[in-house]
Parts: sequence; structure tokens; C-alpha cells
Amino acid sequence: MKAAITVPKNIDYKDIGLKVGLEIHQQLNTRAKLFCNCPVSLVSDSTLSHLIPYERFLRATKSELGEVDTAAAFEFQRQRVFKYLLPPTASCLVELDEEPPHPLNKEALITALAIALAIDSFIVDEVHVMRKIVIDGSNTTGFQRTAIVALGGHIADENGDVRVQSIAIEEDAARKISEDVTSVTYSLDRLGIPLIEISTAPDITTPVQARRIAEKIGLMLRFTGKAKRGIGTIRQDLNLSISGSPKIEIKGIQKLELIPKVIEEEVRRLIGLIMIRDLLIERGASVEEMKTQPIIDVTDILIKSSSRFILNAIKEGGKAYAIKAPKFDGILGVELQTNRRFGTELADYARQWAGVKGIVHSDELPGYGINESDIKELRSALEIKNSDAFIIVVDRPEKAKRALEVVRDRCAMAIIGIPKETRAANDDGTTRYMRPQPGAARMYPETDIPPIRVTSELIEEAKNLVPPTVEEKVSYFIKVYNLSFELAKQLVYSEYMTLFEQLVGSYGVNPKILAMLFTSLYGELKKNGIDIDLLSDATFHKIASVIKSLGDVSKDDLLVIVETVYRNPQLSVEEAVFQIKSQKTIDVSELRELVRSKITAFADEVKKRGDKAFQFIMGKIMNEVRGRIDGKIVAKVVKEELESFLKDMKT
Ligand SMILES: [Zn+2]
Repeated sequence: MKAAITVPKNIDYKDIGLKVGLEIHQQLNTRAKLFCNCPVSLVSDSTLSHLIPYERFLRATKSELGEVDTAAAFEFQRQRVFKYLLPPTASCLVELDEEPPHPLNKEALITALAIALAIDSFIVDEVHVMRKIVIDGSNTTGFQRTAIVALGGHIADENGDVRVQSIAIEEDAARKISEDVTSVTYSLDRLGIPLIEISTAPDITTPVQARRIAEKIGLMLRFTGKAKRGIGTIRQDLNLSISGSPKIEIKGIQKLELIPKVIEEEVRRLIGLIMIRDLLIERGASVEEMKTQPIIDVTDILIKSSSRFILNAIKEGGKAYAIKAPKFDGILGVELQTNRRFGTELADYARQWAGVKGIVHSDELPGYGINESDIKELRSALEIKNSDAFIIVVDRPEKAKRALEVVRDRCAMAIIGIPKETRAANDDGTTRYMRPQPGAARMYPETDIPPIRVTSELIEEAKNLVPPTVEEKVSYFIKVYNLSFELAKQLVYSEYMTLFEQLVGSYGVNPKILAMLFTSLYGELKKNGIDIDLLSDATFHKIASVIKSLGDVSKDDLLVIVETVYRNPQLSVEEAVFQIKSQKTIDVSELRELVRSKITAFADEVKKRGDKAFQFIMGKIMNEVRGRIDGKIVAKVVKEELESFLKDMKT
């Protein structure tokens, strides 16, 4: 691919004036949701597949200030149908917006207050629930309920304290199950799960520091004992800027480890966009000229090409359109992030605004079956000069034209600088365009829920939940559970800390054995195809209950226990214990014990059958000991014990 510039990879973050702010959202494991009594657990895919969806359209509602939000307008123009699945065990009429919300969940409020106390945040006198416009359909109401609990505070850090702007409680959005150009399907199980949102000021100055602060906030939330665990229960958003750039929002970083990578990739993109702007200005590019480029039908040219996908699209009623991007030669091929070029940015816009699959641009040609002679014809039709580029979209005419209008605007913006965007984090740490940033006009008061006074009683309750520091928690684990420093530290930093404490508390199992499950056995189990991270709390409770029933268990036993419970979810605790016991070999005295108890249990039957009782008892015993001891020994013992029993009976 042709590229006019190379964006440097080694960056001095101080030099470029990097500023990062974090927004951490943590789901709470409260007894009920924020505004109704449904539980905070998600249902399985198999449960969802039986449900019939409710369908809704949303309109771009005006805020009380009368403005239509840009982000809302963006979603509205996509005209998609929203479909909602209501799992009966995890949603009710409140989630469907057919019943008013119940009063705010006190347990969630107290947890947020505890965090506020821990970081010296100023607690508000009254908590006011607000409505924040959300029009992507992820809330059935068209808004998300959110309430600020405290303002200010700080997180201590070796690079200097990071200020906290606010602590809020919010309802989580519905869970996206699938989407296409015409519709989006959501499950309402996640809607209304309480979230604590902690936002920091943009005081973070390096990618590594961002990770460190996010981890500190995450641990603090977990140390309240009220945080949900598992994939998707904590979501990290960030905003960042460098000198000369607007503030960019990046949503949905699910893994802590990815935070530095996302910042590095995004910074490269911003630097690249500044370099592109400077080069365009140097070449004499004009916003006016770019904005007035006509969209030209090039179907007649491309129908002669050997491009499969273009020919297929035309066959299905599509047409090919193109625009010229004056002075953009080599710019669409500039790599802004790993494997993402300026052309990819254009494709993101075309996809998000017009729903087209992609674009083709001149920096990647010849390619896609478009050869030199096709290019020559395109260049002449578009009146391309040496430093110009062009972009092609093939789709239904109105869609393709819409896509090129958006691409044209995005190219014009490149001459001005960096657009203010909300972006999403990809799994590899790169980011993609999601939508324009919402304006300030998106909050208004929730009239269905009265304000809640933060009383001294509430504060007192919150004091019991104030999270300790990491050091305090580690020494507590060493003292109370008699664990080594290493093991205690591993557990405290893991997601399983709260669960560990619950299980030791409820079942009285040996803490050292249980700790192994979450630390040293983790990798071994993964090798055997068991991902501890995917097990539910209920499964862990079952495992602990089995450990308790079996008494003293070894590390090997623990592996067998997890395997048995995981692979046989239908088994009750008793059945699992039985199955595990039956996997162990038994000796002759244990066997004799078992035979005696069986004969006693079936005494009447044995008496009736007399000398013929052997087959009957033998069958019963073999069912329990098959594979654990030699059958000949079993036969001998059964015979001896029966003879002795029948003899005793006669005397
Ligand atoms: Zn509900």
C-alpha cells in the first residue's frame, strides 16, 4: 500500500502533552437491580433462544433545552428497529418501561457512599436521579438513569495524585445480542444492574500510569465485597488528548492489560492525523474544494473489471460510485494504528453512517480485481491529477451515495484537523470510530423517582463497607486464613477474593485448599479445558460443598472435584460426592463394611431368598464398586458375609 508518511512508533508522552482521564464502570452484586426487584444475574443463550422479542422504534427526542443531540441524531438517521428479549427470571415490566421504576436500591447507594468515604470525595446532601439520553436502543426508555453521589476526591499515585471528578450510580444498559443494518436485538437481563461509575480528571500522563490507576480503582471497588466478577462486569472507558487535539472518548476496554496498548495506538492515530493535516495544507488542499466534489457514477467502467465483489454487487442491483479527494494521494494508505490506515477511518464512517460494508480507495489499487487499465479509465472519468486520490463505494445507489457524502465530509475534516469522536476499543488495542461525541444537552431530571436524602444513618452504614488498602487486605488474609504472603497477595489481586471469603465462611473448608483453586490450579484446569473464569458462583458453591462433604482433600482430589462438578452439572452435591468416592479404589475392609451394611439394609429380602441371595447382593455391591476392586474378591467377601449372616439368623 502506498503511504505518503510514516507515523513514528516511539513517542515521548511528556513531549506530546498526553492527558488521560478514566471512567470506570463496575457492576454490583447487589440482591436486586437498581430500580426493581429482579436479580442481577444474566441468563444463558439457550434461555434467550426461546423468547419472542418485543419490537420498538425510538425517536430522537429533544432535551428540555430544545436541542437535538448530535449522537441521538446519528442513531435516529439509521432508522433501525430495536428488539427486546425479556428473560422472565431476570427482567420485569420495569425493564420494559411498562411500569414505573421502584425507589433506588439502597445497597447500591451505600456501596457508592463507601467508595466516596475511602477517597475523600464530597458526598452530596441529596441524590437526584437524572435521565441521560441514550438512543442506540440499549435502554427501552431512550435514556439511562444516573445519579451523582459524590464529587471530588483523589487516588494516590507515585506520579502524583489523580483527582476524582465524580462518583455516580447508574443502571446498566441492555445486553446486545445481535445486530444488522435494519435491527438490533437486546436482552433485558443486564438492563438495570447497578453500576458504580468513577470518573477521574485528565491527570494521567502515561499509558502505564493509566493502567495502574484503573487497577487501584478496580481493587477498591472489589474490596467493598459488592462487585460482580467475570467478563464484562467491569468496563473501562477513557478520554485522552495530546497537544493540538480535541478530547477523544474511547469506550469499552474490558481488560486492564489492554489500557496502555489502547492509549499507545490512539496517540499514534492523533499524531498521524496532525501529520496528515500538515501535509495536506502544504500541498494546498482546500476544504471548500473537497466538500464540493461531485459523486460520480462509475458503474460502466467497473462492470468491465474482473473484480468479483464489484460484479456481484452490481448483479444484485448495486451501482458503483466514486469521488475524487484532491491532494490526498498516498494519504489514504497512511498507517495510523496497527493495520489500520486513514482509509480504514473512512470505511468506519461509511459503515456507521450509511451501513455499507466497505470502501475501496486509490492507495490500495491495483487490487480487488481492479487493474491498471480500469484505474486509467477511473482517473480520466474523475479528472484525477498526480497528487489526487479517489474512493469507490459499490452498493444500492442511495446507500452508496450516502456513504460517499460521509467520506467526503471526513476527508474535508482531515484538512482542518482531528474530529471530536467517540470511539470503541478493539480486542487488539486499536480503536474504531463509533459516533460523534454527544453534546451537553443530554441530561434532564428523572421525575418518577424522588430525591434521596443522604442521612447520617446511611453514612454510618457505608462506613462498614469502606474498602481497606491493598496492604491491609493482604495482611488480613495472612492472619485470618493462615496463607503465605504470596498466596494472600495473589488472591487479593484476583477477582475471586470476595467469593473466596464467602466460601470459607459458608462451608468452613480449608482456606489453603480453596486458595489453590483460584491460584496454582488455575492453569492446570485451563489445560484440561476448564476455564475457572467462566464458572458461575453457583458452581463454586457446589464445589465448596463437595469439598466439605469429602473432608480432608488433597490437591489431586481438588482437580477431580472440579472436573466432576464442571462436567456433570446435573449432579446434586450428594451425587457428585458419591461419584467422586466411587472413582477411588477401596480395600477389603472397606468392602466388607459395605457388604455388611447392604445385607442389613436388605435383611428381609436376604432372608426370603436364603441361599439364593448371593446374586442379589452381589449385583447391588458391584454397582457401587465396579472398577475399584477385583470382582473375585467381591464374590468371596459377599459369600463369607452372607453365610455368616444366615448362620447368625438360624441361631
Ligand atoms: Zn425488573
